[in-house]
Amino acid sequence: GLILGIESSCDETAAAVVRAGSDVLSNVVATQMQMHALYGGVVPELASREHLRNIVPVVRESLRQAGIEAKDVDAVAVTAGPGLAGALLVGISYAKAYAYALGKPLIAVNHLEGHIHAVLMEQGGESAESTLALVVSGGHTHLYLAALEDGVWRYRNVGRTVDDAAGEAYDKVAKLLGLGYPGGPWIDRLSAFGNPKAVPFRFVEINRGTAEQPSFDFSFSGIKTAVLRYIETHGMKAAIEERRATLEKIDSPTLDDVRALCNAETLDLIASFQAAVVGNLIRQTMAAAQHFGAKRIVVSGGVAANKELRTRFETEAGKRALTARFPAAAMSTDNAAMIAAAAWPKFAQGEFAGPALNATPQLRLG
Ligand code: ATP
Ligand code: MG
Ligand code: FE
Repeated sequence: GLILGIESSCDETAAAVVRAGSDVLSNVVATQMQMHALYGGVVPELASREHLRNIVPVVRESLRQAGIEAKDVDAVAVTAGPGLAGALLVGISYAKAYAYALGKPLIAVNHLEGHIHAVLMEQGGESAESTLALVVSGGHTHLYLAALEDGVWRYRNVGRTVDDAAGEAYDKVAKLLGLGYPGGPWIDRLSAFGNPKAVPFRFVEINRGTAEQPSFDFSFSGIKTAVLRYIETHGMKAAIEERRATLEKIDSPTLDDVRALCNAETLDLIASFQAAVVGNLIRQTMAAAQHFGAKRIVVSGGVAANKELRTRFETEAGKRALTARFPAAAMSTDNAAMIAAAAWPKFAQGEFAGPALNATPQLRLG
């Protein structure tokens, strides 16, 4: 069973060939990050146009790298949502036409299910172990209970952010501090040089609910406001503007370039912000794991690339006899191998999409 996966929900045009849900023969990603960085965020119209430009060469390259021909493909899987409508439509239209031309089935995949399978696929996919999945990305911070029942993966959403996603908070705070876009990777790397206990973001409360009705929701807009207030009350504005202007003049700034532009107080603020965000993610996830009796935690989405998140999750899981699993680096950000992997059980079940498949920008999971 060879599945061609196609992903175009946001700012990555991706295609991959995966055999039997876990054997990745190719995983091609054309990112538009550099282009959107000029605008400080993803511009939907530009994203659709780039997807249109990239989809044909990206799919062709995925077949070439896999060493197969189009006729060898057994099914075409595509992201149906959530994501940007115009961006999703490029992948969906192409996948539909491709499947139709080949006379092979079309499979619709939820992007979030894809992120979860980026981890599950490395575990051989099928496992009866009770699993709690944290999807933490630019658009989502969601907790799902995932279980395989009669060959079908079922999900139950047990927690979500009530405001900003964690990745969004990283990006917004990086912007407040005059750092480049996307800000997550910068904050991740700069945090190593600051004191995470310097700024106590204690007042950022998490909602635990009550004993009868526990809550596993997240909130990240409060901490963003707290950072802004800190900047204002500590007279950091002028230095931030200077840093922003200097970085704009450097083509591809290195970590050393950026670090040289941050004083100790700024590095402390960055490290403290990260410690607070990572701490919140871990506390709520561990509380949910305990409440639902999950044995395995899988963390995925762009923020899963974060080094501190990984090490602290592993430590905390170890203390509780749980396992914490993360995707390989290439699988944590948007890609199509995870889409093809998530499609595999659906292929086995004959769960196919018809020619009327449409983009669902607000598609939910579970
Ligand atoms: P979604 O999957 O919810 O539709 P998305 O596709 O935009 O959203 P991803 O591409 O999965 O999200 O992840 C991008 C986000 O991950 C950005 O917000 C980025 O700042 C964040 N990110 C990437 N690397 C790191 C890191 N090392 N530490 C923290 N955040 C990171
Ligand atoms: Mg992305
Ligand atoms: Fe994503």
